[in-house]
Amino acid sequence: MQYHLQADKTTEPTLAELTEAAIKSLSRNEKGFFLFVESGRIDHAHHDNFVHLALDETIAMSDAVARARELLPGDDSLVVVTADHSHVMAFNGFTRRGGDILGVSDDLDSDGVPYMTLSYANGPGARAQVKGVRTNVQNEKNYGDLEWRSHADVPLDSETHGGEDVAVFATGPHHQLFNGVFEQSQLPHLMAYAGCFGEFTNEPHCREKSNA
Ligand SMILES: [Zn+2]
Repeated sequence: MQYHLQADKTTEPTLAELTEAAIKSLSRNEKGFFLFVESGRIDHAHHDNFVHLALDETIAMSDAVARARELLPGDDSLVVVTADHSHVMAFNGFTRRGGDILGVSDDLDSDGVPYMTLSYANGPGARAQVKGVRTNVQNEKNYGDLEWRSHADVPLDSETHGGEDVAVFATGPHHQLFNGVFEQSQLPHLMAYAGCFGEFTNEPHCREKSNA
């Protein structure tokens, strides 16, 4: 799929529309279903340091989650939202409240050159310095274009994933299990417990359900 902001809206569905089609189709199974929705292009955009596209893809993901929650019965559907890893995008400080998230910080670097509110620790957005001073990226011809790369420190063909903990959000039955910090491999076990799959089919909450 194209990035949401670059897609032909007459021929390409949004992630929310794809999610809706999947839910409507799978809902025909009276035993319930497991649906996995990935917004894979958040990842692609970050790898290219395309910060505007990455943020917009994240909004498309948020829209897909909202659509899923509209369509699914809240008391009978566990919705878990998480990430499989972070990226090395940094949220730099000293931008004024209400400032453009895609714009420059109100602060300047030690040489008096502006820096973006959002930048990267590595990736193809690295620029060569001139006499030890960063260039002012705002002067670039394609500054502000969708495929303009925010500035990065370490030059790499593709920005790397990051290593910090990612958040987990959940609504619906057993949502309280998704609270705190986990090894990521624990999440499918928690979902199987909530959904009475596999080794958990004889848990008390599963027996009550099948008797009902
Ligand atoms: Zn990736």
